[in-house]
Amino acid sequence: MKAHRIDGKAISDQIKAEAAWEAQKLQRQGIVPCLAVILVGEDPASKVYVNNKKKACEAVGILSRSYVLPADTEEKELLDLVAQLNADEGVHGILVQLPLPPHMDENQVILAIDPKKDVDCFHPWNVGLAQMGQQGFVPCTPAGVMELITRSGYAVEGKRCVVIGRSHNVGKPIAMLLLQANGTVTICHSKTRDLAEICCQADILVSAAGRVHMVTADMVKPGAVVIDVGINRDENGKLCGDVDFDAVCEVAGAVSPVPGGVGLMTVAMLMKNCITAAKLQNGQ
Ligand code: NDP
Repeated sequence: MKAHRIDGKAISDQIKAEAAWEAQKLQRQGIVPCLAVILVGEDPASKVYVNNKKKACEAVGILSRSYVLPADTEEKELLDLVAQLNADEGVHGILVQLPLPPHMDENQVILAIDPKKDVDCFHPWNVGLAQMGQQGFVPCTPAGVMELITRSGYAVEGKRCVVIGRSHNVGKPIAMLLLQANGTVTICHSKTRDLAEICCQADILVSAAGRVHMVTADMVKPGAVVIDVGINRDENGKLCGDVDFDAVCEVAGAVSPVPGGVGLMTVAMLMKNCITAAKLQNGQ
């Protein structure tokens, strides 16, 4: 069997086009959606992510403001900047690129962001709302996973879903969204026994472990939908996911590639959240 290659580029372009249309509507009302992005330090991967977000903002019609702080910035200085952006009515979304340098407490920084501007959906208030299935921001990567599945024409309801990974920002919210879509969900982690056996039962298998080529063909049920969230470097330094893509394509029904899959969706969903933020702050 040769699996369908899920097209993250096409689906993320579609979502960005929808966000662009919404941005134009807001602009006609005199509202210019604006995202403030804060980067602390020189992490090369973070720089790439921030740049991708900036480019997406330009494409969609969202104003982006960048704040680059040196790695040795005091946490207080970052908190002061967040407070200033919270108070700025021209800024609708605030994103602090993670990870932060080790001397900073990420939880404190996330807590400092006004939940109305928390477009990453990391603030406990928004995590709680998302958990309850209430309107507001969507966690970007998890929501991107759901869009990849549903816009590719695969239903979740009644399906057996397995998620590898249980982090607060990725694995857990993916499992929660699959559950909200009426999937029957199992969450696996580093202490899970018989991982391959559990994965083999999945109609929908999502890997968010961050382990190069951990998901091999013998872990995949014939015809399954496999979504690869992992962003890793292989032994040659090449970007790759958690899934042994070529081999898994021989078994699965559909597979999302890395690059070209979930990563693009994360940025697209961020654009969607920026529009939601601008609307919420303007009583819409
Ligand atoms: P974490 O390191 O926080 O979590 C990894 C999870 O995978 C943990 O729950 C861990 O289990 C589990 N795990 C690790 N190894 C194994 C194993 N051998 N078997 C079973 N479970 C395992 O990472 P994140 O959740 O933040 O990110 C996961 C991956 O997704 C990374 O590659 C990251 O780069 C990528 N990512 C991609 C994004 C995108 O836009 N595409 C966005 C965000 C992240 P335990 O809890 O027991 O330690």
